[in-house]
Amino acid sequence: MNTTQKTALIIGGSRGIGRATALRLARDGYAIIATCRQESAASAELADGVAACGVPFTLLTFDVGDRDEARRQLEGAFGEGGAPDVAVFNAGQADDNLFAFMTPAQWSDVLRTNLDGFYNTIQPLVFGMLARKSGRIIAISSASGQTGQAGQVNYSAAKAGLIGAVKALAREVGRKGVLVNAIAPGLIETDMTKELPKERILPLIPLARAGVANEVAGVVSFLCGPDSTYIHGQVIAVNGGLVM
Ligand code: NDP
Repeated sequence: MNTTQKTALIIGGSRGIGRATALRLARDGYAIIATCRQESAASAELADGVAACGVPFTLLTFDVGDRDEARRQLEGAFGEGGAPDVAVFNAGQADDNLFAFMTPAQWSDVLRTNLDGFYNTIQPLVFGMLARKSGRIIAISSASGQTGQAGQVNYSAAKAGLIGAVKALAREVGRKGVLVNAIAPGLIETDMTKELPKERILPLIPLARAGVANEVAGVVSFLCGPDSTYIHGQVIAVNGGLVM
């Protein structure tokens, strides 16, 4: 890897929005370090896609809920106190149920991946970005975190928590040249949403369609680039008008 090449870390980069983001940032010229839980056909396909862009690719495999393993692997990739130029926290999972029936595991697992995962993977990198006086941190939240969604008390809480974390962190690190923002997608066609009853959701979307992962990846690219240097502590909605 040459020393002038910028590096983007995509936490949860193997599929869906994370995969599209990794490929988009590869096309933008970033060396890509992507993470997922385990190697799969999807991660192999991603490796091929990034290689086709002519930039280096590294895959890290760990569960973002595993704090010690996350730190160990990130230190292995960036060195102690090191950090990528861009860190995108995209890993997420949903496990929906009405709150009256929600099990302790449904609550804990969703909070651990979607919110603890942010601490586990981003906190180890912040010191390095502060020392370097540059960096971009982008967290993928959700429209559910902005408005709350019935059947998703766990997921909405985690995604709203991410928005709070992003805003607080933005206040801490802005002076040191580290820009922090969140993106709140609405309904995006991915594995996560393929079982959802689209016929009930589409009438609520003014653009009358689901979004595609590239439409989120393009916003990540913008938030990493030279035209967004005064955007900080914001939640950028990518939702076809679902939430205004
Ligand atoms: P997918 O299910 O398609 O992909 C999820 C990604 O996160 C995969 O790369 C997966 O890796 C990784 N991941 C999930 N859990 C963990 C974990 N515990 N540890 C490490 N990696 C993990 O989801 P989407 O692309 O749809 O969603 C991406 C993000 O966008 C999520 O945070 C989601 O909540 C958010 N979002 C999605 C919306 C949508 O409509 N699709 C709407 C709003 C927000 P692996 O291959 O190992 O499973």
